[in-house]
Amino acid sequence: NSGALNGLNSSENAVPADAKNLRVKLVLLGDSGVGKSCIVLRFVRGQFDATSKVTVGASFLSQTIALQDSTTVKFEIWDTAGQERYSALAPLYYRGAGVAVIVYDITSPESFKKAQYWVKELQKHGSPDIVMALVGNKADLHEKREVPTEDGMELAEKNGMFFIETSAKTADNINQLFEEIGKRLPRPSPSSS
Ligand code: GDP
Repeated sequence: NSGALNGLNSSENAVPADAKNLRVKLVLLGDSGVGKSCIVLRFVRGQFDATSKVTVGASFLSQTIALQDSTTVKFEIWDTAGQERYSALAPLYYRGAGVAVIVYDITSPESFKKAQYWVKELQKHGSPDIVMALVGNKADLHEKREVPTEDGMELAEKNGMFFIETSAKTADNINQLFEEIGKRLPRPSPSSS
């Protein structure tokens, strides 16, 4: 019965999402320059390239990870769609997202303020069961740090978010970020059909 082979179908949408194989739209929000593209490139391609950007025109990059409980999670990571500059685009961008990763730069208090804005925005307009993560990126630049770790922790705690500091440059905590998100995703109940 060839119908059983649908996991091998070339169409992305033919891959079923079930209790063991989750699929989720992930968006990154935050000021321009905080390292959103670099985090994605580090995660998907395993490299840090200060000059390359996620290809313009690609609607999303995807990456699948396996968790310890043998669940797999396929992240569909969307291009930022200019949300940094054109806030009117933001709702289009995060609509339907199961995961929002709000990124700031630990050397930039401005970007941390913007992160606080995004937390509020998503609480008002995001889907109710969205998994939110707060990320303090560029943790390798500790000599230039201006946002204390505690501030990030506190913001995250108050808002029921997962918090982590990362470096796309050194790869510190990048995989952990996505693993922790995977663990927090709601599991569809096996009986629902
Ligand atoms: P985006 O606008 O948020 O997508 O930011 P980019 O990913 O384009 O990164 C902006 C700049 O920050 C680039 O020059 C990167 O090289 C630099 N950058 C990104 N992540 C890191 C990091 O973890 N550490 C350091 N030192 N620089 C980073």
